[in-house]
Amino acid sequence: MREGASNLMPADCIFCRIVRGELPSQKVWENDEILAFRDIHPAAPVHVLVVPKEHIAGMAAAGNEHAALLGELLLAGQKVAEQEGLDEGYRLVINQGNHGRQTVAHLHLHVLGGRLLGAMG
Ligand code: AMP
Repeated sequence: MREGASNLMPADCIFCRIVRGELPSQKVWENDEILAFRDIHPAAPVHVLVVPKEHIAGMAAAGNEHAALLGELLLAGQKVAEQEGLDEGYRLVINQGNHGRQTVAHLHLHVLGGRLLGAMG
């Protein structure tokens, strides 16, 4: 973990609660380390969130010890996109901090697709 970053699991982290099954979600894919579920406010016809089951507050809180897990996260995004039939392409997005408009402090990868997406930024 990066110095100064807190990855303490908050009892009320909504994605930790989804991982624990305490809050409902529309699961689309899962393995031992990762859960993928549909975004509650989809920004595209397909909008899936891919989260590590371990609480990591965000990209800025990840460290070298998370390198393999970060790779698994990207590959899970690829698997979800394939499963969702996004043959025309898709976008994988990680928002970090205020300027990145991160609203949930649990690392997550957005998988967006199903239409031609707008320009970045
Ligand atoms: P971000 O802005 O990158 O932090 O993305 C957080 C995403 O989580 C947003 O797209 C929200 O719509 C989504 N979200 C928040 N609460 C839930 C929930 N309970 N189930 C599914 N998606 C959620």
